[in-house]
Amino acid sequence: MRELFAGLFMIFFSLPALGQSNGDPNFFAPPLDIPMILSGSFGELRSNHFHSGLDIKTQQREGLPVYAAADGYVVRIKVSHYGYGKALYLQHPNGQSTVYAHLQNYAGAIQDYVKTNQYRKESFQLELFPEKEQLAVKKGDLIAYSGNTGGSGGPHLHFEIRDANSRPMNPMDYGMEIPDNRPPLINSLIAYPLSDSAHVNNLTKAVKIQLSRQSNGHYIARTIKAAGEIGFGVSAYDQQDGASNKNGLYQVITTRNGSPLFEIKFDKFNFNETRYINQYVDYAYWKKNRSRVQKLFRENDNPLSLLKTQGNDGTIRMEQGYSEMVKIICSDKAGNEVIIDVPIEYSSGLNLNIPDKTIQGELIVSDQGTALTKGKFSLYFPAGSLYENSDLDIRAKGDTIILDKDQIPVHKNITVRMDVSAHPEEDRSRLYLGRLSPSGKPYYQSSTLENDKITIKTRTLGTYVLASDEVPPVIQPLNFRDGQWVSKNKTLSLKITDGKSGIGSYRATINGEFALMEYDYKKNRIVYNFDDMVSSETEQKLQIEVVDNVGNSATFEATIYRKQQ
Ligand SMILES: [Zn+2]
Repeated sequence: MRELFAGLFMIFFSLPALGQSNGDPNFFAPPLDIPMILSGSFGELRSNHFHSGLDIKTQQREGLPVYAAADGYVVRIKVSHYGYGKALYLQHPNGQSTVYAHLQNYAGAIQDYVKTNQYRKESFQLELFPEKEQLAVKKGDLIAYSGNTGGSGGPHLHFEIRDANSRPMNPMDYGMEIPDNRPPLINSLIAYPLSDSAHVNNLTKAVKIQLSRQSNGHYIARTIKAAGEIGFGVSAYDQQDGASNKNGLYQVITTRNGSPLFEIKFDKFNFNETRYINQYVDYAYWKKNRSRVQKLFRENDNPLSLLKTQGNDGTIRMEQGYSEMVKIICSDKAGNEVIIDVPIEYSSGLNLNIPDKTIQGELIVSDQGTALTKGKFSLYFPAGSLYENSDLDIRAKGDTIILDKDQIPVHKNITVRMDVSAHPEEDRSRLYLGRLSPSGKPYYQSSTLENDKITIKTRTLGTYVLASDEVPPVIQPLNFRDGQWVSKNKTLSLKITDGKSGIGSYRATINGEFALMEYDYKKNRIVYNFDDMVSSETEQKLQIEVVDNVGNSATFEATIYRKQQ
């Protein structure tokens, strides 16, 4: 009886785990049938976001079969020129979902469904939400082919597992095993004086701390002399077996004299908090040095759920007579660790160069909305646009507005509005406000024109200038000529470019019927596939119109001939 009871007890308490993938490491199968080698890990630090999945390398190839990670059905399909490119979303019966992105194409019934809808909507880009069970899949079914579409910088499969609330979770916590026999690598350790008059090694700004590597692979920092409230930041990465890609860590823990001080764990987050990465990393350091330092303390109530620290924010107050030992433990999912020991001694500091806090420019108070007028420009910083009160250098010079430098992160859109009443009304539609690149080129920003005002919204500080684009796009055929027989062609391929504002839209027809062309912005290429059989005529009149972002349009026409098959 006693044993039976114990048995029931165990069944009872293991029930909640049933139907949850974390209770069953085999719930999800790898989506590719090649070794799992990563070019990107979950939670990896990226521009304006934490990476929400695994980037699985596809051996420099496209077209590898992609399989359903578990039973389920297609819940969403999105085809976009940018971002995830061709993406597929599967819903699983346990409430979780999986995402497959940068696909070259979909497979079987899914591909037919997408094509049918692209022709119905007369658009390459689309978003579809099939009915439940319309496109059911079994674990291991072929669902797509891997590719390099959208914002992908090389052939790979972006794979995500999301919980029932659409929060991305670390697939390595859910059965995706990646061989990893190497500990993380450390680039640099930074110490930050945080309170007024705090210092580190007699400096009142961030300081790089010298590290010496021990024979066991761990590090000891040179003893820090400090006073006041201080914090640490580390730039580190991990490499798994089989590749030299610099991927993210799984966890960083810091302790102070053996007691927990701070923890970040890349296990799961919410998409609506991902932009707080700009507060979590040292943004100015990233912009200056192209290396991301993660701050091992919670700054200004950063709400990131990846930060596991409760109560303690991860900072240390150095007071007279104190000496401290801080340990920073960086680890990967396989449990390999690298530890940095940081001894700290109190020192009162000599002739500290306390930064002048007098406001030099415009004070933007973080929790208040601020409206400003500068020359022809009016600006609005909504409450919460900046993470902390900031003294910004904001100046207007004619048709240029300087919004300080891109070294201070912006969380919410700033509105920039310019008066263009000095420009003749008929010219205004070709104007836009561009963000000045380091090479001096105004990079197109989506602008709206209302009467005599042009408005943009931006989350990047820097210099913006008024620019105009009067030149239509250029369309050049790549694998055919006007008047040619193209019976052997599988495709029609053209190059489309626009010198200034960039490609806005395009539309192609053959003998007057909509012809689907896939656009790859990285190759400036649009491609029609003859399998679509838009026309079965021998003589086919191709017409393509391409419009740039301010409305200049170009038209290309050619007549081609195809043997009837
Ligand atoms: Zn990715």
